[in-house]
Amino acid sequence: MQGELGTREEIVRTCARMYERGYIVAGDGNVSVRVGRDRVVVTPAGAHKGMLRPADLVLTDLRGVPLRGGSPSSEMRMHVEVYARRPEVRAVVHAHPPHVLAFSVAGQSLGQCILPEVVFALGRVAQAGYATPTTSEVPRIIAEHVARSNALILDRHGTLTLGEDLAAAFNRLETLEHTAKITWLARALGPIAPLPAEEVKRLHALAEGIGLQRAYPDCAGCDVCSGTETGGTTPSG
Ligand SMILES: [Zn+2]
Repeated sequence: MQGELGTREEIVRTCARMYERGYIVAGDGNVSVRVGRDRVVVTPAGAHKGMLRPADLVLTDLRGVPLRGGSPSSEMRMHVEVYARRPEVRAVVHAHPPHVLAFSVAGQSLGQCILPEVVFALGRVAQAGYATPTTSEVPRIIAEHVARSNALILDRHGTLTLGEDLAAAFNRLETLEHTAKITWLARALGPIAPLPAEEVKRLHALAEGIGLQRAYPDCAGCDVCSGTETGGTTPSG
């Protein structure tokens, strides 16, 4: 397993990539990775995440108490909530990707199962309600969703993606934003419909077959794509 120094370098590289891709600007976003059993390396509060150095990062315990470095991210409570509820998750990425956020601000769901490979790779996309950023409302509002999804959209705020490592959490962010772009373009051409429930079930079974973790094995219990989209808008769940 990668040590603390390697983890710091990987976080710096990932944040730079997030900035280059336009997923964060200025002081946006935060990234953390679990190191060993009970330590977390996290981005610092306030800094421009696209221009970090490994020494800028903060080492904390699993409750977010800093052990080395300055102040951890102002959204540290969100990361602490994830690690408490999902012990197998080792990386958490929060960003403000513009296409995903445009859907959120417009009150439109991105949770429909539209693209087979996204259903396969991402599983359920959870739409969490509004919470004032940096307050204790944020961990409260994500709590129920974190247990069931690796990809969350925080209303009017951004994305929260989880992974068994940092690459997986980053890939989920990238897939979410790419899906938002494709959905945007498709809607410009006309109404779009989600995949049939039977096909979603088959894709989840395929994903399970290669060991991908699934919150829901099929559409049952998933509330985001139960209605067929006809007019280009769907109320967010
Ligand atoms: Zn944010």
